[in-house]
Amino acid sequence: KRALLAVYRDRETVDADGKRYGLYANIGSPAEAEAAAATGAEGVGLFRTEFLFMDRTSVPSETEQMEAYQAVSRTMAGKEVIIRTLDVGGDKAIDYLGMDKEENPFLGHRAIRYCLDRPDLYKVQLRALLRAGAELRNIKIMLPLVTSLEEIRGARALLEQCKSELESEGLPYDKDISLGIMVETPAAALIADLLAQESDFFSIGTNDLTQYVMAVDRGNAKVEKLYTTFHPAVLRSIRNVIQTAKQAGIPVGMCGEAAADPCLIPLLMSWGLDEFSVSASSVLATRARIHHWRSEEAGQVAQEAMSLSTAAGVQGYLKANARD
Ligand code: PEP
Ligand code: MG
Repeated sequence: KRALLAVYRDRETVDADGKRYGLYANIGSPAEAEAAAATGAEGVGLFRTEFLFMDRTSVPSETEQMEAYQAVSRTMAGKEVIIRTLDVGGDKAIDYLGMDKEENPFLGHRAIRYCLDRPDLYKVQLRALLRAGAELRNIKIMLPLVTSLEEIRGARALLEQCKSELESEGLPYDKDISLGIMVETPAAALIADLLAQESDFFSIGTNDLTQYVMAVDRGNAKVEKLYTTFHPAVLRSIRNVIQTAKQAGIPVGMCGEAAADPCLIPLLMSWGLDEFSVSASSVLATRARIHHWRSEEAGQVAQEAMSLSTAAGVQGYLKANARD
């Protein structure tokens, strides 16, 4: 199977009608960027920067962060690199940040909420990103766990502050760096039209979106059965986000696990997803699967799937119609 897939390494990601899609990789380190590039990823759709902050005793310096982001930028020269700012909290604890123990960490002081309350720390990361983007201008900044316009405005204000500081220090930076958001909360999915006015791009985080739409802990085995992207509520959320982004004229990708699910490919294609971001090991299989669909057939499957009323019904139907 691997050998068969190898023929897709140097191909474009197109459906059977020749329509093009972006096929990016999710990474957690500069080394993973190299593996992703080697397997034919067309960019990085999610660089999880928390890994830079883990397994150490203090915050990585601006230079250290800049070097890590620059390494990925260079590995992906000529391709987009979407770097997510620190997504701390929830299931990702970092001891030296001195975060309080919380009753409900997934509903707590995490991700963009924490970062906006710690501008001292957040500005180091934003400055490192701006500076790392100066050379090849292929870095984009992505905010995790957004629920409101104020969060985007807060982050943008800090980004502008960092730009003027770098300007007066005479340090090179990317003046036009894009700022986009992860859509991974029900709040963001429901006000996607409003958020799109102030975001340069969207990326759908189905891991958290599924957890929050279904009110089910993504790490709790006892409620595992309820954690399903095939639930009509999750699928309607995804469809709304993609279609809203299209109407607003901004690019929309998906970087949650669902992007690599063969069952969902026809739905995501027919709704107009621009970019699939998957782990390096899923890049070639996803490219091959996209190749197998004509847009008309994908549209029919999507329509039928969305007419079904239970997660089990949707999943059964899509499994029977998946192409591998
Ligand atoms: C997601 O929530 O879908 C996602 C991609 O981010 P993470 O898994 O890091 O929370
Ligand atoms: Mg997430």
